[in-house]
Order: sequence, then C-alpha cells, then structure tokens
Amino acid sequence: MPNLTDLSTIRDLCARYDFALSKGFGQNFIINPGICPRIAEAAGIGPGWGVLEIGPGIGVLTEQLCKRADKVVSVEVDKRLPPLLAETMAGYDNFKLVLQDVLKVDLKALLEEEFGTKPVAVCANLPYYITSPILMRLLEEKLPIQNITVMVQREAAQRLCAAPGTREAGAISYAVAYYAQPKLLFTVQPGSFYPAPSVTSAVIRLDVRQQPPVDLPDGREKAYFALIRAAFSQRRKTAANAIANGLKLPKAQVLEALRTAGLEERARPEQLTLRAYAALLTALHED
Ligand code: SAM
Repeated sequence: MPNLTDLSTIRDLCARYDFALSKGFGQNFIINPGICPRIAEAAGIGPGWGVLEIGPGIGVLTEQLCKRADKVVSVEVDKRLPPLLAETMAGYDNFKLVLQDVLKVDLKALLEEEFGTKPVAVCANLPYYITSPILMRLLEEKLPIQNITVMVQREAAQRLCAAPGTREAGAISYAVAYYAQPKLLFTVQPGSFYPAPSVTSAVIRLDVRQQPPVDLPDGREKAYFALIRAAFSQRRKTAANAIANGLKLPKAQVLEALRTAGLEERARPEQLTLRAYAALLTALHED
C-alpha cells in the first residue's frame, strides 16, 4: 500500500494516471498522517461494522476505515478515480467502490444490499460544496445509520452543532438536533490538505437518534421544518414577522399562535427551541 499522505507519492500517482485534482468536485485530499486514523477512531467502528464513505478520492481515509471495519463501501462521483483506487486499495478485499453521485444514489437500497443487519457508520472528508444536502439526505431519509463522522468547513461545523435556542443556531442546527446528537470533535488546519483550502476545517460526529426529541403531530415533519426555515429566512426580524412573510399567513394569526403556545411575541427565530417550534406548529394548525 503506497503512503497516501506523502506528497511525492500523490504526485507520482496523479502523473501516472494523468489525474489533475478537480476544484469543482471539492477535491482537497488529506496529507496530514495523523488525521485519518483520528477520524476513523472517532467514528467508533470496529469488527462487525459496515462503513459508508462519501468521496474516497485516492483512498487515504478509506484505508483507515478498511483496517477497522468489516466492510467499506465508498461512493465516488469522479469517473477518473476508479483506476487509481484499484491500485491504492488493492490490498483490501473488504473495499467496494460505487461510482455514483451521492445525492442521486438510492442509499436505502445500497445500505440494505451491502450491509444487511450490520451496524453502519458514515465516515467522510466531505466535498464542502454539498455539505448540507448530503447531511440532510442522510438524516431525513431515516436510514439505518448509527452515526456520521465527517470533516466539514469549520463555520459549517459550528452551525451544524449549535444548540437550538442559542445565538449560533440556524435553521439547519434545528434539523440536525432533531435527527441527531451533534458534537464538534476537533479542527483541522488548511496545511493538512493537498491542495490547501482557504478555510479551516473541523470534524464533527452526529449520533443518530432512535427517537426524535420532540413529538410532532402525525406526518408533520415537513411542515415543522418549513416553519423553522421560514422563521430563519429573515434573521433580523422577529420570528413572527418572518413566519408571516415566509408562509404567507396573516401576522395576527401567527401572533395568536405564539400566545397560545405560551411564547414571546417578539421572540427572535434563534431564541425558540425545538419544543417551542413544535408548540407553535400545533397552535397554528388548531383553528
Ligand atoms: N477522502 C479523500 C480525502 O480525504 O483525501 C477525498 C476527500 S475530497 C474533500 C471530496 C471527495 O468527494 C472527492 O473524492 C470528490 O471527487 C468526491 N465527490 C464530490 N462530489 C461528489 C458527489 N456528488 N458524490 C460522490 N462523491 C463526490
């Protein structure tokens, strides 16, 4: 197995396969040898586990996952990478490459087919340009996943892990907190990647919840997140104003619902908790 954190090895590999890293696919490969073992350890995987990796690149994290788990399935969109991975991952018979766009592949079917009843973790150094759509897909589709351990841009990590009801929270913090228990584990400097990105990165772990932390009326998840997104669509306004504008409701109706739910009429969107939004949704649909 070549040393995939060694720059001259990477350059040689790229030259032999005529491969130039693509900015468009968010290709910044990890070259700090301490990082991939740390991510794999943080994912808590071991014998008996299946791992879904998103974006293996040339396999630097993949190798660490294969060393620990029973089986690793990596979804990669770049059609130029299979021959490189065939060389770099040749020593691992528990590795499988799926050449697809992670936003389009049928994840439910893939997980069932590849992992059966094994516990599954998702592990990745994500392509940053699609961080939110990937994470929302993984969470909203209620896939049989125990946890998600991923590298993202540091600002995204802070937002994803912010507790609802705090100043740092955005609409996505509520979605993450509804489906999982998030934790920011450690930051990673630009020099740990090739090429070095302009931003600092961070590794987060999301432990997927078996039960949501708030009870919503049946089938109301969609309306619940539409309400939260509307509240955050105009951050400088009160939640009431933003919700009335965003959902095209009379302001008086929203204010009445806030009162019924026992909430402050002038509350800002980030001051309301997951429970508060649930109460507001119920109050809005009472009449
Ligand atoms: N895992 C490698 C590492 O840590 O060095 C590469 C990580 S790089 C930040 C992101 C990877 O995601 C690249 O291999 C890129 O080609 C892949 N990628 C980008 N968009 C993708 C998509 N829509 N579906 C699957 N993989 C994608």
